[in-house]
Amino acid sequence: MNTPLRERIAALIRHDGPMTIADYVAHCLADPHDGYYMRGDPFGKAGDFVTAPEVSQMFGELIGAWCLACWQSIGAPSAFHLVELGPGRGTLMADLLRMASIRPAFLDAASLHLVETSPSLRACQADTLARAPLAPQWHDHIDALPYGPLIVVANEFFDALPIRQYLRTEAGWRERVVGVDDSGGFAFGLGPGVLPDADIPADCRAAPVGAVLETRPAATAIMTTLAGRIFEHGGAVLTVDYGHANTAVGDTLQAMRGHQFADPLADPGAADLTAHVDFAALARAAKAAGARPHPLLTQAEFLVRLGLIERAGRLGAGRDGTVQNDIRATVDRLAGPDEMGDLFKVLAVTRPDVTPEPFDS
Ligand code: SAH
Repeated sequence: MNTPLRERIAALIRHDGPMTIADYVAHCLADPHDGYYMRGDPFGKAGDFVTAPEVSQMFGELIGAWCLACWQSIGAPSAFHLVELGPGRGTLMADLLRMASIRPAFLDAASLHLVETSPSLRACQADTLARAPLAPQWHDHIDALPYGPLIVVANEFFDALPIRQYLRTEAGWRERVVGVDDSGGFAFGLGPGVLPDADIPADCRAAPVGAVLETRPAATAIMTTLAGRIFEHGGAVLTVDYGHANTAVGDTLQAMRGHQFADPLADPGAADLTAHVDFAALARAAKAAGARPHPLLTQAEFLVRLGLIERAGRLGAGRDGTVQNDIRATVDRLAGPDEMGDLFKVLAVTRPDVTPEPFDS
């Protein structure tokens, strides 16, 4: 399909030469007019994918319980910034704040900051949070966050940041790029960029010719900054995403449209483009900045340890069979091994002397 965004990207490639996958993904997701996240609301049954907070209020509520415990474990500072990265529809934050309302001192101490680039999603978040106990301030980038202790939550944020890909060739790791082929369509090729030896994780150095290695410089940079802030001022980052615990080779770039996998090069801006999060790379960045990455938990371990089953029981108590079945299905969706339970992982980062629950058991 010849959309204006496709034409603009093709024109850039014709003018400047093939672009990195990171640049291609950034155009597709964040083009101010036609970028995927700029156009509207991609979430939910009618959208392209469903995220955990949209599956059930229990997800945001349990993250709210985590924030309360975390605040306590960092010494209950009388002023701190509660931050969400990429809040989508604002559902997680609304559920989190409702849960947090059981501790007025937490809300008194908190100021709310949402890091969001999409104007349409900002508007959606403002609607969802219109009656919330804290009024949000929005930022385009984490660099604009004020100094002070931070409690940061991020669900499916890092997977939306652009990746770069390198193909192992006889001549080393060459960068994969997006160019225009003879028929005018987009096609993958190899660019002049070579991954410096120092950037090749130890686990991948012996990878065979043909292997693909992914890096996500924007994610590493964000984690480095947040971990540095936490080292200096205290606080925590909690990030939930789908991905792998160890750095490994593999091409994980995928496009989702209408709950189906699509071709990432087919319709720029029409599909969500994501790739697995490399949690080992995020943990390395956090550690290098002086903070402590806790051992990863699966989403199932994290939610069950925080009381998912008990909470589901309370929600279902006294309700009819259909409601109880729905709640059971929701628990399965969030924590079942074949659903989000194992694929999604939870990374917590704090100062070295803090161990937040449930990372302590
Ligand atoms: N956390 C939400 C939404 C996940 S989708 C949920 O779980 O439902 C990714 C979110 O990150 C969207 O809100 C998107 O607009 C936002 N986003 C993507 N790239 C971003 C960037 N570079 N800076 C800030 N927000 C970004």
